[in-house]
Amino acid sequence: MRRVIVTLLCAALIVALALAIGLLHGHLSFQLGSISVETSTPIALVALAVLFVVLYVVVRLLGVLLRLPRDWRAWRQRRHRAQGDEAVTKALVALAAGDGPAARQQAARARRLLGDTAQTLLLTAEAARLAEREPEAEAAFRGLAARRDAAFLGLRGQFRLAMARQDFPAAAKLAAEAEAAHPGGSWLRAERARLAVRTGDWSGALALADSNAPKAALAAAAANASQDPGTALKLALVAWKADPGLAPAALAYATRLRAAGKERQAQAVIRQSWALAPHPDLAAFALAQPGSLAQAGAHAQSGEPLKQYQAAQHLTEGNPDHVESRLLLARAALTAGLTGEARRQAEAARAAGLDQRRLWLLLAEIEGDGDASRDALQHALVAEPDPTWRCTSCHATQATWQPVCPVCGTVGGLR
Ligand SMILES: [Zn+2]
Repeated sequence: MRRVIVTLLCAALIVALALAIGLLHGHLSFQLGSISVETSTPIALVALAVLFVVLYVVVRLLGVLLRLPRDWRAWRQRRHRAQGDEAVTKALVALAAGDGPAARQQAARARRLLGDTAQTLLLTAEAARLAEREPEAEAAFRGLAARRDAAFLGLRGQFRLAMARQDFPAAAKLAAEAEAAHPGGSWLRAERARLAVRTGDWSGALALADSNAPKAALAAAAANASQDPGTALKLALVAWKADPGLAPAALAYATRLRAAGKERQAQAVIRQSWALAPHPDLAAFALAQPGSLAQAGAHAQSGEPLKQYQAAQHLTEGNPDHVESRLLLARAALTAGLTGEARRQAEAARAAGLDQRRLWLLLAEIEGDGDASRDALQHALVAEPDPTWRCTSCHATQATWQPVCPVCGTVGGLR
């Protein structure tokens, strides 16, 4: 309604103006060179108005023509941008779906449309990685690493490629550069710890370990690898404190204490660990003669048998009912000629549920010749195998302890 009123008012104004112009009197004449024009005032005013309109249209047209190239470029850029964004989305979908060729195709299209941005370079690199085209991925990651705003992304990608091809020196160099580009990142810290484990740099792995890492295993390995007695002792103490129930940690510490002439302290460490988690290796160390570490396994033959038995009793005081304690005491008693005690301890271990080959062989030895001995040997044939180091993750067994499971790579997995 309001628009109708305004339109009617405008129309009335125009009509009034036209009538007013039509009612004007007089003439207008002017001469331009040889051309002389003479007309009435209303026609001159109308002609002037038409001239203004024509000039206005011409100026607007000129403006449009002048802006045309710039507008064309802007339109093309907007179109490329929209198509590029679409290609980025498609490349991300292909990456998530694990479709390497499609991801590469869409990443290349996005790069063509949007240029070498951090996003398109990263997409190109990840797509190439998925399609197992390492040189292509490497080149894209290098391009990213050269950009100040995305250097970490490029270095991270190069680091992962170096780790995958097991080029550990290159990975270490890239990790240092990535740390400088983005210090304190948790991902890089974890990866550097993984790299240290892969290269056997146990001290480095321990320094980078987080609160959930098996510090005892790492510190024990670092202590065993250390050439400096003082450093090795400190690392071994860290290992033992972290997990006194881990025999290799206790052995690492006790070995260094013994080497430093602190035999009583070494024995105390072994006794404490035995009370927590008895292990045959602890007994081998405790009953070995100091200074003859190379013959640690032959402890039963070294020294006087009765003293060995007493040493075994002393060691097992903190956990005398454990089957390992009973087996150790049975073996030591047998060697010392205490056959009755040896039989009592071995039978107690059997009553506790132990059914391993070593127990039946010991029982056979205790019984000497006779039916009981032959029965025990028969049992030994079908008994459970003797204990060994077993990975808590993949359950693979190993004859000797190692800080990392050689099968599945779990750090501290062998128990
Ligand atoms: Zn394993």
